[in-house]
Amino acid sequence: MTVQQEAEVGGAALEVWIDQDLCTGDGICVQYAPEVFELDIDGLAYVKGADEELLQDRGATTPVPLPLLTDVVDSARECPGECIHVRRVSDSVEVYGPDAA
Ligand code: SF4
Repeated sequence: MTVQQEAEVGGAALEVWIDQDLCTGDGICVQYAPEVFELDIDGLAYVKGADEELLQDRGATTPVPLPLLTDVVDSARECPGECIHVRRVSDSVEVYGPDAA
């Protein structure tokens, strides 16, 4: 994936991470954006890397691909655990999610 294909808000690239401590395991995010989110065998959601490998470290981040921005934002809005965080790569400011201004 090139930088140009990654989602931008105000010219800034975005990344997404999940707080697994709050994840309910309902799988809503996986329904919205299966390219970005996946449930692991522990029943919790994790983000996937650019080559779609599951990033099993808690709180791991992955770039938000521009074509999937709406799906990722909808996931964050609908997440019952309020644990999907979308932030700018440059300064780590959350732009969508429970900690967004
Ligand atoms: S929508 Fe939220 S609570 Fe549900 S599986 Fe995804 S990260 Fe977990």
